[in-house]
Amino acid sequence: MSETARSRAAALPHLRRGRLTMGDPIPLPLTMAAIYHAPGDATGFDQYGRFSNPTWDAVEHMLAHLVGAPCVAFPSGMAAISAVFFGLLKSGDRILLPSDGYHTTRALAEGFLKPFGVAYDVRPTSTFLDGGFDGYRLAFVETPANPGLDICDITAVAEAAHKAGAILVVDNTTMTPFGQRPLDLGADIVIAADTKAPNGHSDVLFGHVASRNADIIAAVSGWRETSGAIPGPFEAWLVHRGLETLDVRFDRMCSSAEVIARRLESHRAISGLRFPGLVGDPSHNLARAQMERFGFLISFVLASKDKAEDFINNCLLMQAATSFGGVHTSAERRAKRGDAVPPGFVRLSVGCEPVEELWQAIEASLDGTSG
Ligand SMILES: *Cc1c(COP(=O)(O)O)cnc(C)c1O
Repeated sequence: MSETARSRAAALPHLRRGRLTMGDPIPLPLTMAAIYHAPGDATGFDQYGRFSNPTWDAVEHMLAHLVGAPCVAFPSGMAAISAVFFGLLKSGDRILLPSDGYHTTRALAEGFLKPFGVAYDVRPTSTFLDGGFDGYRLAFVETPANPGLDICDITAVAEAAHKAGAILVVDNTTMTPFGQRPLDLGADIVIAADTKAPNGHSDVLFGHVASRNADIIAAVSGWRETSGAIPGPFEAWLVHRGLETLDVRFDRMCSSAEVIARRLESHRAISGLRFPGLVGDPSHNLARAQMERFGFLISFVLASKDKAEDFINNCLLMQAATSFGGVHTSAERRAKRGDAVPPGFVRLSVGCEPVEELWQAIEASLDGTSG
């Protein structure tokens, strides 16, 4: 971990320190309130639960500290993406999305932007620069892309997009602020699903939008307050708790993924192995240059749909589940979600289990499928 990442992680559990007065609880209190004491015309304090909430403020403060930019919290990753699109785009705009990224982002563009006159095109992540950005108001990348784990050069895309007059949005869900810092690489906006590793316990959905541009923050905040896509205070409280251990969990998960990916390389049951940390991976050099860690997602292909199902279902230290980034290792055969991948394609999310025990369970299940 870089020195700045370490100092960010060290300060995280003490962020509330300066705000405490005598007798205040050290852990964050949960404020469940739709209304507040608000006599007269005074402003500058909490008034109504759609406008503000002290528990959101605390989680946004923590996220802003981690990301290094003002953050606006949302009830899910998709709500954060929607806020960027509906808060910033207008009829007649054209946007560019990854063809191999999270499928619901494309579904949002197809089902809800297009009918309002916002056109979209798609491009593979690995060749996202090809064709330039003329005519686009907004370019949106996901790197590494979920689930294929291709990467694009954020700095180069940001420069080319800005030259063409487009803003760059990066979905940083697969990496978290400890793994990759898109705003430092030139992106205008970062969105992420805190549903995944930042919360980490697979018990809430949550998301955020981050930007160093005050107009962008005002637009997405305005969208949240007006549309009513607000996070619940209890969900915000749980994410605040989860973020306190993100550094430790993410470190364990990324380190274990490096070990497991290297061992998978030589397993006979596997083809198409992708992990940005492998020296032979097509993304490796770029990953070394722009990512602080290589992440905790690994993808590979087993011989058939049944082999992939057997591998996932028979592994004793693995949950068969969609999503990723939880403390437990989980895996999913992504063809069942409609991703354009082979039937035996597996996306593996490495969890926090001790790595030798985890590897033994993975190897035993793989050996079972290839026997
Ligand atoms: C899960 C995910 C989302 C959506 O997050 P939700 O909290 O499920 O709405 C967006 N982008 C990526 C890359 C994801 O993995």
